[in-house]
Amino acid sequence: MVDSKGRIAKKLRISVTDRCNFACLFCMPDKSKVKWLPGPDQLTFDEIERSARVLSELGIDGIRITGGEPLLRKNLENLVARLSRLDAVETLDMTTNGWFLKQKARLLKDSGLRGVTVSLHSLKRDRFSKISGMDALPRVLEGIEEAARVGLDPVKINSVAIKGYNDDEIVDLVEFAHSRGLSIRFIEFMPLDGLGIWSPDAIMPGKDIISVLKGSFDLSPMGREKGKTASLWSFGSDGGKLGLITPMSEPFCDDCDRIRLTSDGKLLSCLFDTQYYDLKPILRGSGSDAELAKFVKDVVSKKPEGVGYMPWVKEGWAKPRNMNAIGG
Ligand code: SAM
Ligand code: SF4
Repeated sequence: MVDSKGRIAKKLRISVTDRCNFACLFCMPDKSKVKWLPGPDQLTFDEIERSARVLSELGIDGIRITGGEPLLRKNLENLVARLSRLDAVETLDMTTNGWFLKQKARLLKDSGLRGVTVSLHSLKRDRFSKISGMDALPRVLEGIEEAARVGLDPVKINSVAIKGYNDDEIVDLVEFAHSRGLSIRFIEFMPLDGLGIWSPDAIMPGKDIISVLKGSFDLSPMGREKGKTASLWSFGSDGGKLGLITPMSEPFCDDCDRIRLTSDGKLLSCLFDTQYYDLKPILRGSGSDAELAKFVKDVVSKKPEGVGYMPWVKEGWAKPRNMNAIGG
């Protein structure tokens, strides 16, 4: 699956639901006004598995399950088991808010999940509640501990650093992860939030994060591997890694190898694209795997150049969906 810039799609993010038990202020729209995807519009596990199989035969070798909150999807471990059996898929990971992790980590691991990325934006209980809309910090921390205990590997922490909300906790968050041997990645705030609080001034750029951290840690740059979103930094001789995901200040579109499948069966070749291509007519009609493959290749060939080439995104644009309905 190659696009017009020669980029090859190798990684797939599958969003399994647009729903979430949290309401992070940089993601979820006002929950009292959201129109959730009706159940029948949501892809079934059979449809997700079939799409993933066809995509893997076209070159996808890594899958990340996301949402909304993926663990809200009933019996998700069954989907994990099915995806883990796809021959060409080398890595199967999940991004989660951690709420169900204490309860589910062992089952997920036994079902074939490799690693988990847990979102953690504050270590202060009150602030965590304000940011995520749920008094969940102790439970999320227990989930992280359990994920590491059962051997999910890697266990990573994702933090969205936002000026005026949690930028004073950058050192503490890194200390938390580093002292437990976990990787942490800071993601720049993207204008895909449902409440419309995003502004360029709210972004904590990667280079500012590094300046803050250099006062406390002996960091050395390791660069960014082709196709990866995070540029990595190592902690001197201590081992461990820090990642910076900088789509706004230093976009990595030129070697992006990702595509996304939403919970209602739309294929998205760029997080910032406004075009969604619906797989459902093929999946639910009598379309063959060959037709599905042809459709997908055509979508990928039209992949936009990326956010780095969309300056209007930074000034605000008519985004088609909020982050909870794309999957991050
Ligand atoms: N519910 C799960 C979670 O929070 O980890 C998975 C879905 S969430 C949409 C995926 C990732 O996107 C999370 O790490 C979240 O922090 C991040 N995210 C959400 N909204 C964002 C935004 N506007 N800018 C940058 N990252 C965002
Ligand atoms: Fe839910 Fe994740 Fe969005 Fe937070 S970031 S509202 S946990 S989907």
